Amino acid sequence: MLSKSLEHALNKQVNREMYSVYLYLAMSSYFKTVSMKGFAKWMRIQAKEEQSHAVKIYDYIIARGGKVTLLDIEDPKAKWTSCGKVFEEVSAHEQKVTGMIHALVDLAIREKDHATFEILRWFVKEQVGEEMDARDIISQISIVGDRPGHLFALDHTLGKRE
Ligand code: MG
Repeated sequence: MLSKSLEHALNKQVNREMYSVYLYLAMSSYFKTVSMKGFAKWMRIQAKEEQSHAVKIYDYIIARGGKVTLLDIEDPKAKWTSCGKVFEEVSAHEQKVTGMIHALVDLAIREKDHATFEILRWFVKEQVGEEMDARDIISQISIVGDRPGHLFALDHTLGKRE
């Protein structure tokens, strides 16, 4: 059985992952409004991935005999001023999520809950990838600078994500 404190913390993490779904869907819709279809597609796939993260923890809570509690999802911001600004926010958000995952790992270790520690290891690795992706795209956008042709090429590249 999950301890009450881990159950509570894991439910909060489900909520955070669902907030990520909302945030990335909001970003995808922003990209649609500025006709960056590749960026929009990339972000929509990202949102789908976040949903799979939420469900992974949700399933785990149930598997451990815990109670899933679905909390209110905070409204994400809906306006940005540039593609670069969006990805700076992605980067900041993912760093925050990493911090939350690490705090969960600390709690699992304190409680000597090996099964929770094990599932969280997957998330620890996943966050390394999430932070790297955000950094890479920020750097690609900064290389593009104010050359619209290059931005469209990057949009095309990001649109190839499956
Ligand atoms: Mg996630």
